[in-house]
Amino acid sequence: SNSSRPPQVLIAGLDSSGKTTLMSHLLNGKPMATSPTIGFNVGTLDLDKKNSLTLWDVGGQKTLRKNWKLYLDEIEALVFVVDSTDKERLQEATKALKMVLNEDKMEGLPLMVLANKIDLPKAMNIREISQHLNLQDLKDRDWQIQACSGLTGLGLGQAFKAVNKMIK
Ligand code: GDP
Repeated sequence: SNSSRPPQVLIAGLDSSGKTTLMSHLLNGKPMATSPTIGFNVGTLDLDKKNSLTLWDVGGQKTLRKNWKLYLDEIEALVFVVDSTDKERLQEATKALKMVLNEDKMEGLPLMVLANKIDLPKAMNIREISQHLNLQDLKDRDWQIQACSGLTGLGLGQAFKAVNKMIK
């Protein structure tokens, strides 16, 4: 991007999917602005000398899910975080993803699904998660799914570089 402002990336997902952990790992040592009342964390991720992304982690709790659209105007990509070990909440995650993708602001924007917590033995694989989320049915947008661990950082760098490419 040639604009002075880095692309804005919305990070969404259910509560406990690991968004805060992942943000902390990515922004390690860098300031992260937090508003517990509105329910978001924001910080800038530097990918290399030329490329940065501004990451907005919005609250995953039901009551907070509607908040992000009130103050995010120029999102260029969506990152949706799923807890790969939580089969019981995959249905809820599927609904939440659908809800976000149906927003006007999300029309045509690229989607990166992060299958998080793959450091844990009971993590489902990305094929299984893609099927549950019906990713193959998505039309008119680029999407990818990447396994990662917000705890160890595994897969995170790769995922956000891919997000940056999808924006361009
Ligand atoms: P958020 O509600 O989406 O922000 O989720 P948190 O970042 O608070 O994470 C919820 C719980 O999952 C915490 O106990 C984290 O330590 C744990 N967690 C998050 N990411 C990972 C991961 O990649 N691996 C493991 N093993 N635990 C994780």
